[in-house]
Amino acid sequence: MQRGSRNSQDLKLFNRLLVRNVIREKAPVARFEIARETGLTPSAVTVIVNDLIGEGAVSEMRLGRSTGGRRPVMLGINPKAAFVFGVRLQKNQIEMAIFDLGGTILNKELQTLDTSDPTEVVEEIGGYFDRAIIESDLDRKKILWCGLASPGLINSHSGEVVRSSNLNWLNVPIRDLTSHRLDGMPVQLEHNVTAAALAEMEYGVGKQCMNFISINLSVGISAGIILDGRVYRGDSGYAGELGHMTLFPVGGPRCACGQYGCFEAVCGVNRVLERIKTEVRSVDVETIGIHDVVAGSLSRNPQVRNILEETGGLIGIAVANLLSLFNPSMIVLSGELSKADVLVNAIVAKAKQMTFDEVSSSVRIVTTEMKKEPQLIGTYVTAMKKVFMLDHWV
Ligand SMILES: [Zn+2]
Repeated sequence: MQRGSRNSQDLKLFNRLLVRNVIREKAPVARFEIARETGLTPSAVTVIVNDLIGEGAVSEMRLGRSTGGRRPVMLGINPKAAFVFGVRLQKNQIEMAIFDLGGTILNKELQTLDTSDPTEVVEEIGGYFDRAIIESDLDRKKILWCGLASPGLINSHSGEVVRSSNLNWLNVPIRDLTSHRLDGMPVQLEHNVTAAALAEMEYGVGKQCMNFISINLSVGISAGIILDGRVYRGDSGYAGELGHMTLFPVGGPRCACGQYGCFEAVCGVNRVLERIKTEVRSVDVETIGIHDVVAGSLSRNPQVRNILEETGGLIGIAVANLLSLFNPSMIVLSGELSKADVLVNAIVAKAKQMTFDEVSSSVRIVTTEMKKEPQLIGTYVTAMKKVFMLDHWV
């Protein structure tokens, strides 16, 4: 008897989540379309929709087109029904934002600080959150989930950054530390480049792609791999550490991980800056930053362009290897170095030159089209997946 009522409770919840997800995916959508999509009866849909409207989760948007009878009322998720908090970590930088359910950013901040102490990082995240909800006049209880993206080896089950040479972290339980500082708000930890790949898959150039690889070209270099429409994580969740593939085992520069000649030690932002400082005459070594190199005055300097071209050629070798290994339909480049046209052109040329025509002719190598940092949008996507599994939002 009890078991039966439990099953009917589960079914009720399942149908409710199903309807809410269809409204999210298909909005603006009419009630009869929800019934068709879910296989539920029109009266069952009406009951669930009325509940969702009553709670403020769903709103009636406008009248749709008539298919003979009355014009149907179109439904959508109420973007202000709840909110999510997104945090993106990288070496010496934290980007944080509060999103509404529609993906609009209500408040955003980019902090530069020494990220080697996790306690300070967590305090910074908490401090921003406290300020942001006051500035944006939000009810703390309506911010339901935090999506947290970090570099390094990530265990998303235990919520730990197991190892990050860039953050200089070892076995840091960042999910629980952050959740504690945010008064128990649930936190979902994701690798930053996996977050970027998820963002591309939902909102970017990866929307129609089942097999693509998102590569972040920054201080670290890593790859978010989407195979058959799903994130490929590897056995322990550590797949995609492209930056620590060995390029020059002998005589290569030392990597932050302790090895020599790792790909990111040869092609990452720090190496590019170091080379420019030592090889290019008339450069102000004190003030030069990567933005001067990829988009500012230095981007037209012939010696700088040579270094960017050489770096792009080396990255192109790694991309060629990925093409041969996975046969993706697309490679999406993001991160600071992807803003340098000369470097991207060199990647494309080298990658295509080094792979079979059959593989290279069908692949598109593009830079992200997202206006905001894809990893940050990925924190929103990560949190939203969790929010849409919750029974009630408020
Ligand atoms: Zn390394």
